[in-house]
Amino acid sequence: MSTIPDVVSRLRKTFSAGVTKPLEWRRNQLNALKAMLTEQADDFLAALHTDLGKNAAEARSAELTFVVNEIDHTLAHLAEWVAPEPRPLPETLRPGAGRVVREPLGVALVIGPWNYPLHLVLAPLVGVLAAGNAAVVKPSELSPTVSAAIARHLPSYLDTSAVAVVEGAIPETTELLAQRFDHIFYTGNGAVGRIVLTAAAKHLTPVTLELGGKSPVVVDTDVDLRVVAERIVWGKFMNAGQTCVAPDYVLAIGDTAERLETQLADVLRERFGDDPAQSPVYGRIVNTRHFDRLSGLLAGGRVVTGGQTDRDAKYIAPTVLADVPPDSPVMGEEIFGPILPVLRVASLDEALTFITDRDKPLALYAFTASAETKQRILAETSSGAVGFGIPVAHLTAPDLPFGGVGESGMGRYHGKYSIDTFSNLKAVLDKPL
Ligand code: NAD
Repeated sequence: MSTIPDVVSRLRKTFSAGVTKPLEWRRNQLNALKAMLTEQADDFLAALHTDLGKNAAEARSAELTFVVNEIDHTLAHLAEWVAPEPRPLPETLRPGAGRVVREPLGVALVIGPWNYPLHLVLAPLVGVLAAGNAAVVKPSELSPTVSAAIARHLPSYLDTSAVAVVEGAIPETTELLAQRFDHIFYTGNGAVGRIVLTAAAKHLTPVTLELGGKSPVVVDTDVDLRVVAERIVWGKFMNAGQTCVAPDYVLAIGDTAERLETQLADVLRERFGDDPAQSPVYGRIVNTRHFDRLSGLLAGGRVVTGGQTDRDAKYIAPTVLADVPPDSPVMGEEIFGPILPVLRVASLDEALTFITDRDKPLALYAFTASAETKQRILAETSSGAVGFGIPVAHLTAPDLPFGGVGESGMGRYHGKYSIDTFSNLKAVLDKPL
């Protein structure tokens, strides 16, 4: 821990020397990151299985391939994204030329969570490096095997004069937060988000907060509930529900609730078998603290399917709860686990009021055939993202900005949005003498 100030000052020297600015350096780093993900894939997959019981197919697509795609997309567009951008000038300033120049900020700090412990450290790092910055990376101590794998491999591939990994928990993060950075990118919960923002204020450091919250799913009366159930099950129960944009709860309009419950139970049985504890594709809860928290939420409604637990194995069966009262504990905090409450609402109006009475979600999903309903949802609610017809998948579109609003966070990243997050957009006015 005593070396943390030295690490940051070493990276700052590298940045000040201009090492990270040339596009060639940035491209080399991105290619090296990609090589690491390809060559060390087996090690990362094993670590993800150890920490979270992630099956290889899910881990490959959601952690490794996701980052590789982000790298490829960035490499394909980098020159265009960072090129000076000519802007029109008002008549009073003509003749002259206006342009926006994107310059790197300096040294960034990336603090990651445990649920996608590789993806959520490396995807921001792609933006940090592509924009020409140095970085300290702090993986989550709650996924220690992945954290160790990152600390082992990253320095063998990236320029260690510009990128450092600091492992550790609260003391190390606190010490990091005492340093001056030029951007802090934090993914995790809102309580720590506030600590990060407070620490950043001392140095006037800009901050991106990728937080969570309860992402609702509205299910209208005019849709094929079998398809709806398949897509909700996919988005909710991957990584055993420990996904920031996972559907948190369902608002089923009119008489859809009961029919949807049956479909959800059928799809769950088909996907994970009669005993999901035996399923090779079903994950585990990260630790006993979260297991105990989630177990306490199971009594929040009538169990349609699931409900079984095994504390030693940190296993909670994929569970659907019905007849859930809005003031049930399961409707308080973000669930962040494999429990899906289905609430009955009488109308779209009631669904919209239910959503807008609560914190602005990271994502809002709706299954409806009505263009008017979609328009009302867009116009009358606020969230980081909206997914019509499918949950979670919006985050895989690299040209869509990713992030939250209000309690679900601030700032955006992915693709070009990452470049803008980790750059100073310098205004240049050039007037002839
Ligand atoms: P976590 O506990 O792993 O914490 C994240 C980081 O904060 C870790 O690196 C940890 O060391 C650090 N930290 C924890 N306590 C600290 C303290 N007191 N002071 C300084 N640093 C501290 O992750 P988590 O918060 O349990 O993650 C789950 C939350 O993250 C959920 O709310 C989820 O929705 C959200 N999340 C959001 C996104 C997103 O992209 N928006 C993605 C994943 C998770």
